[in-house]
Amino acid sequence: MYRPYLDDEAREYIDRYGHLGEDLALRVYTSHLLGRDPKLVLHGGGNTSVKTRVRELTGDEVDVLYVKGSGWDLSDIEPKGFPACRLSRLLRLTELETLSDEDMVAQLRGQMLDPNSPTPSVEALLHALIPHKFVDHTHANAVLSILDRPDSQTLVQEVWQGRVLLLPYVMPGFVLARAVRAIVDQLDGVDALLLDKHGIFTWGSSAQESYERMIAAVAKAEAWLAARRQHHVSTANDRPLAARRKALSRITPRLRGALAKATSGTDGRMVVLVSDHPDLYEIACSDRLQDLVQRGPITPDHVLRTRPFPLVVDADGSPEALEQAVAEWGERYHAWVDRGIAARGIEVKRLDALPRVVFVKNQGALFLGKTIAEAMIVRDVVEQSARVVIDIANDGEYRPVSETDLFDIEYWSLEQAKLKRQASKPGRLARRVALVTGAASGIGLATAEAMLAEGAHVLVVDRAGERLEAEHAELAKKYGARVAWALADLEKTEDARAAVSACVSAFGGLDILVSNAGSAPAGLLDEEEGELALERSVRTNLLSHQWIARAAAEVMQAQGLGGVLLFNASKAAFNPGPAFGPYAIPKAALVALMRQLAIDLGKHGIRSNAVNADRIRTRLFDGGVLAARAKARGLSEEQYFRANLLSRETTAEDVAEAFVYLATAEATTGCVLTVDGGNAAAFPR
Ligand code: ZN
Repeated sequence: MYRPYLDDEAREYIDRYGHLGEDLALRVYTSHLLGRDPKLVLHGGGNTSVKTRVRELTGDEVDVLYVKGSGWDLSDIEPKGFPACRLSRLLRLTELETLSDEDMVAQLRGQMLDPNSPTPSVEALLHALIPHKFVDHTHANAVLSILDRPDSQTLVQEVWQGRVLLLPYVMPGFVLARAVRAIVDQLDGVDALLLDKHGIFTWGSSAQESYERMIAAVAKAEAWLAARRQHHVSTANDRPLAARRKALSRITPRLRGALAKATSGTDGRMVVLVSDHPDLYEIACSDRLQDLVQRGPITPDHVLRTRPFPLVVDADGSPEALEQAVAEWGERYHAWVDRGIAARGIEVKRLDALPRVVFVKNQGALFLGKTIAEAMIVRDVVEQSARVVIDIANDGEYRPVSETDLFDIEYWSLEQAKLKRQASKPGRLARRVALVTGAASGIGLATAEAMLAEGAHVLVVDRAGERLEAEHAELAKKYGARVAWALADLEKTEDARAAVSACVSAFGGLDILVSNAGSAPAGLLDEEEGELALERSVRTNLLSHQWIARAAAEVMQAQGLGGVLLFNASKAAFNPGPAFGPYAIPKAALVALMRQLAIDLGKHGIRSNAVNADRIRTRLFDGGVLAARAKARGLSEEQYFRANLLSRETTAEDVAEAFVYLATAEATTGCVLTVDGGNAAAFPR
């Protein structure tokens, strides 16, 4: 069930990377084999190395350790992700009695042949010490299912029959390297080194041997677990999946609000991701398991993603009850940090007191992040870990690394630095969720992109499915999972609601609605055709905005964090054109709708504003509309776009900027912002 080592695949890696040395090429190959199985390692976990000899520019040959570099993931690591360090110097370092983390990193960097390489893994010294060519390290679930127990020492003998060596838990880094140094002679007689509550190391003279030893050792643990699992009865009840999903999405906006309010003074808005994974459901349904997940993650590394313990809430908790629960979690977390500080006698800069994992009793789990990418990592880690906790709880006691040891990792200066380096500068809309309609082209597309560029998470909505998918794919290349899409025909109330629900499912809530979709029908109102066009346009250009605004406002009120409703009005609302009644009249009413919502929703902190744009080259002008409008004004098409006080053509990007501004203008509501190059006849009044 694990990926086999295949000679054909190995040859492909040698073809691709062999010019850098066959050892390194194969090191990349089996790192990918390990990294691409979530049951072995996840998201930057684990590390690998190879000892080899390289020729320097001077022609001198030198023994080096290629070891995984910081910031790389085993699933997609490339040769440049393995810094080469002088092996003899690394071994000399392990002779020191003590070495601070910072000094160790400086020393490791100092031994790199190429100063532009990434910083070597903090386990580089341990890798150097193991006297074999290839070394693999993982946090395999099955192995942790044995190690995270009080009687792990006895069980290790039972499972591996003396073929492994077990080291008691010590902090990764120099201390662990020293502990390995003390027992390195004993590695000869065994196939693997286990680190209690942490993971497993294997080694070999070839990449294949080291990898296959890893898989064989993990398989032994799995076979042992499988035999025990036969007696296991699931504690989960069987509530239908759809009902659970619904309950989880109902609580999501409320929870998002409670979390943000708990961090007064700072912006604690989080993105919330729902999981209906069956293992998490099983935990959510069992009081006993809920207690166990409070004991910490399955391997200490995970604390950096998950925090030391989750928040547990009731599915039908009121906003006040949720706020209370979040506040209590914060107190508990601070007390946890206080105990760590007291135990270690150190000063730390506290992390935010917000959970990253929330169990909703009897329903499932939610995952939080400042970005969706963070939340997805937390989800992956916890979904994988759940089986370990369940397996152990099934026939034993779950006892992962101790509280103080976990504190050491959460407040490890090196890890803090690593996380800080990854965090990019937040934009003006960071941690905000926006929904943009009519987003497959023109103003909607430009606005979606402008908001993404400011750090927002954006759901792009349109009825033009193919175009929307294509544009989404383009945006996703640049903004990743921060942009999601949903197909909707907003002239149907149920589609408007579904679009808002899709936004909650994707990101956990909604802060900014850009209600932009519309059409531009023309016609004379003294003719039946014009009258019918007006009737249809009232649906498209007025009611559809009301429907989605209402659905959005409901989510915003559930969050209790205010919100922004933004509408794309038109200068036609103020300065109608000849034979354009079916367009101008609903647009004028849309401005009235915007003002009414500003009045009615102000008490909830929900702002309502419109952008009044004119003559933007968009699809509204397709199908002969442009020629007709220009002719109606007696202008050429080119003149038509520049016929304003500034003689400047206004672009979709200009309008997008105005929407971004209004999304951030905390003191502005009931406002029409004009973006048209200047048109005295259309000044709002
Ligand atoms: Zn590890």
